[in-house]
Amino acid sequence: MVCGRKFPLGQGVIINMCGFTLKFHNKSCAMKFFRVFASRLTGDEAKKVTKEVIDEFLSRLNEQRKLKSKKL
Ligand SMILES: [Zn+2]
Repeated sequence: MVCGRKFPLGQGVIINMCGFTLKFHNKSCAMKFFRVFASRLTGDEAKKVTKEVIDEFLSRLNEQRKLKSKKL
């Protein structure tokens, strides 16, 4: 979708978002798309969603750390 290159089924990066199926032939093409996407996200709603995603990842990281420290 970004560079127009075709890729075999089952390969590449496929993301379902807002009712669209986004297909990228590799991660760097997906990154290119999301950089543009992120740069256009403005306003309170975007801020809220961004914070939610950050919190989600951080809490996942904390859980992983807890699991690791239990094993030690
Ligand atoms: Zn590509």
